[in-house]
Amino acid sequence: MLDDRLVMKRALVCGAGGFIGSHLVKRLKREGYWVRGVDLKYPDFSATEADMFVIGDLRDQAVCASVLDFGFDEVYQLAADMGGAGYIFSGDHDADVMHNSALVNLNIVALCQQHQVVKVFYSSSACMYPAYNQEDPQNPNCREDSAYPAAPDSEYGWEKLFSERLYMSYQRNYGLDVKIGRFHNIFGPEGTWQGGKEKAPAAICRKVAAAKANDTIEIWGDGEQTRSFLYIDECLEAVRRLMASSFAGPVNIGSDERVSINQLTAMIIGMSEKPISVVHSEGPLGVRGRNSDNTLIREQLGWAPEAPLRSGIQRTYAWILAQVQTK
Ligand code: NAD
Repeated sequence: MLDDRLVMKRALVCGAGGFIGSHLVKRLKREGYWVRGVDLKYPDFSATEADMFVIGDLRDQAVCASVLDFGFDEVYQLAADMGGAGYIFSGDHDADVMHNSALVNLNIVALCQQHQVVKVFYSSSACMYPAYNQEDPQNPNCREDSAYPAAPDSEYGWEKLFSERLYMSYQRNYGLDVKIGRFHNIFGPEGTWQGGKEKAPAAICRKVAAAKANDTIEIWGDGEQTRSFLYIDECLEAVRRLMASSFAGPVNIGSDERVSINQLTAMIIGMSEKPISVVHSEGPLGVRGRNSDNTLIREQLGWAPEAPLRSGIQRTYAWILAQVQTK
């Protein structure tokens, strides 16, 4: 029988055991790709759909060389040492975050060039934007061309900026076809929802799902900090469009429906139909305001999120409620 790899488009997903990576594998399989996934772990909530899944540490050059051993049509580099505000803004993980993610990127980009991979996607983050443009919660500036002078508010953001430049250098010097997306708070079912690495939507869904009527839940800060959140399926649509285009980015992949954390909390409490009150407490917060500026992606890819925040939160709350109830 003919090896599937000879007739299908071949993709490597680094970080395929993580939230976005595991969903991306499913999407690529639906589109008819042969997919190899690699990660330190299998996906946490459902079996991988990858044709081949390698458990391996991408900080190790030998592991990278064994999974990137031929010229894939597409490589998606999503592996990173990361988590929500409690993980990346506490300062406790800075050395690991910088060292681990930078090593993975240094290894992967060199092998992509060596094997003449056709296209490489690098997942950057809105955390690379300068803190000075994100002090006003009602008027943050996250246009792609506002990245410099650089002043990210976390080492996680600095590593993303370094790695963006690393991939762009390979593009400039070696002609590697690189695509860079700057993700803004991606959320959805099968994302981390407990354990310290979860992000705000999952953490709030968990607290609300676990609360009984008349309980009080804790929210970090005064809740007036603003963010936007993009549902996973919308994110993958944008990534796939970027990969199919001749546009390299860096480009924001996010929603421009900005909400305060208090508004997000009220939305989730409303869905639960439980009388729950909120108390504000000290905690790691990140910038005061952030929103995706989607002007460039609309112009270049004709993409904008289709559904409002509420519909993605509804699906995510239902999934986290089921997790909490079966715990
Ligand atoms: P995730 O933590 O769920 O997935 C990352 C995966 O990388 C994990 O499964 C982890 O085990 C794996 N990994 C880490 N170090 C590794 C190593 N040395 N070798 C092999 N695998 C390793 O995170 P995610 O939410 O799926 O994010 C995917 C990418 O998108 C990351 O690069 C992240 O920085 C970026 N991003 C995500 C968001 C978001 O809101 N989820 C926002 C901005 C940027």
